[in-house]
Amino acid sequence: MTYETLKIELQERLATLQSRLSSLKKDATQSHSGDSAEQAQERENDEVVDAIGNETVQSIRVIQSALERIESGIYGVCDNCGEDIGLARLEAVPEATRCVNCAQ
Ligand SMILES: [Zn+2]
Repeated sequence: MTYETLKIELQERLATLQSRLSSLKKDATQSHSGDSAEQAQERENDEVVDAIGNETVQSIRVIQSALERIESGIYGVCDNCGEDIGLARLEAVPEATRCVNCAQ
């Protein structure tokens, strides 16, 4: 059994998230307009961008750690009970660190 397919999928997801994050950062650093009503609206947008950004950063960390586990050869092993997580679960949730029983 090989995790090569999952690795490719994780790498693709990582690339997507990283490009999303860099476009979020670009939006956030764009100059703000002078109008005070628009500024208030922009601050709200910034908060939304922050929330999405934090979520994206979190997802990137999770995927990077899954890729590191693949590199270290410990991928697919439940970090709680040490049993195999199982390919079916990993195909559904490639970043899973726990088997179905322990995840609950
Ligand atoms: Zn387990």
